[in-house]
Amino acid sequence: MSTKATVEKLVSLCKRRGLVFQSSEIYGGIGGFWDYGPLGVELKNNIKQAWWKAVVQERDDVVGQDAAIVMNPTVWKASGHLDTFADPMVDCKECKKRFRADDLVGAVAAGTHGHEAAVKASRCPECGGELTEPRMFNLMFKTYVGPVENDASTAYLRPETAQGIFVNFLNVLTATRKKLPLGIAQIGKAFRNEITPGNFIFRDREFEQMEIEYFVKPGTDEEWHKHWVEERYNWYLGLGLRKENVRVRRLEPEEQAHYAKDTYEVEYLFPMGWSELEGIANRTDFDLRRHAEFSGRELEYFDEESGEHIVPYVIEPSAGVDRLLMAFLVDAYDEEEVRKETRVILRLHKDLAPIKVAVLPLSRNEKLVPPAREVWALVRKHWMSQYDDAQSIGRRYRRQDEVGTPLCVTVDFDTLEDEAVTIRERDSMEQVRVPIAGLVEALREKMNTGD
Ligand code: ATP
Repeated sequence: MSTKATVEKLVSLCKRRGLVFQSSEIYGGIGGFWDYGPLGVELKNNIKQAWWKAVVQERDDVVGQDAAIVMNPTVWKASGHLDTFADPMVDCKECKKRFRADDLVGAVAAGTHGHEAAVKASRCPECGGELTEPRMFNLMFKTYVGPVENDASTAYLRPETAQGIFVNFLNVLTATRKKLPLGIAQIGKAFRNEITPGNFIFRDREFEQMEIEYFVKPGTDEEWHKHWVEERYNWYLGLGLRKENVRVRRLEPEEQAHYAKDTYEVEYLFPMGWSELEGIANRTDFDLRRHAEFSGRELEYFDEESGEHIVPYVIEPSAGVDRLLMAFLVDAYDEEEVRKETRVILRLHKDLAPIKVAVLPLSRNEKLVPPAREVWALVRKHWMSQYDDAQSIGRRYRRQDEVGTPLCVTVDFDTLEDEAVTIRERDSMEQVRVPIAGLVEALREKMNTGD
């Protein structure tokens, strides 16, 4: 992480600059839910786009889909979520606060679901009061489908997007006529009634996942598992996360989920320590077999090579958009002294920066505004951009630095004579003069060079 980023500084920057707001803030908020503001939604979309480009657009063995959030409840019986998607919780008998038992023993920083942790921490970390015995708490949000609220109409908000892929495996296979290995990718909301949401947007009750279920022939699963761990690790580095802040960790046997044969995590060094960004699990044929059993449908693949019907194994890279967004912010956050002032900069990768170009007239002088607006009209066709003419030019550069805008274009009095503008780069603060006629080309060049 950046040594200068703290969770407090990030929360404050995110609110001030319209990246992330507490959900329903005017009513006091609601724990574990967050809203993304004008710049936050851009950053989030850019992360999702970069992922989709890498795993769908640039590959010939992965296709996309978008399943519904509410599914037939039998899905969750088959997947094991109804029986095992639970965390052990303890309550403080004094202050009534509730904790995740595995957090208290500190067994695993971010914890894992489906395991009963050996909890022996006996005192409340807040008030020192006595704790109850751990009880299992199912993390799925319940709702009702239709006008009657009873057991028969009970449904769940999906706790992961993965199951929407497993149940569509045959549909996608038939529709695309693809052969194995075949991946299906999906981005969408997931919901978990986490006992202790926190660390800003790291652990939420509503969040977004980017998941791939990569179906392979049994026997080739371990090789593909390695492939995906490498691919995913490199994706993070390619988008600018510093190598010293990212690591891959293989989970210990006792940390594995019930469906997994082997799991790796890509972890990031957050201000609160190393924590999971993405899990990459070998789910074997567990899910397809369970859905075949519960649905009565054969979820198989005809392997022309061997002339046999097989149940594919699955490698699952599963990442959380909100967590990634936080990691990219932490990593990009920097402060430096410039002319005795602190300059806050988000050194975001250009592909991720919410605003790519800011157009700034030197002042609000009536002669400068029309050409500046013309320049903006030129730029905004190509990139997400902003026009800003409030306050001094120095202040405006700082404002753009603070939200990671890689390039600023300044229109000054010389522009009226030479029909040229100045491009200023965020990181180096270097300035070059270019003719307006060649501006788009010059910006494009700068946008595509280097990282
Ligand atoms: P954790 O151990 O942190 O609870 P997990 O191992 O249960 O996570 P998975 O079920 O593997 O997580 O989910 C895949 C990814 O989804 C995680 O790597 C994470 O990026 C994201 N994710 C999971 N739970 C949350 C949450 N409550 N808030 C934000 N992101 C989440």
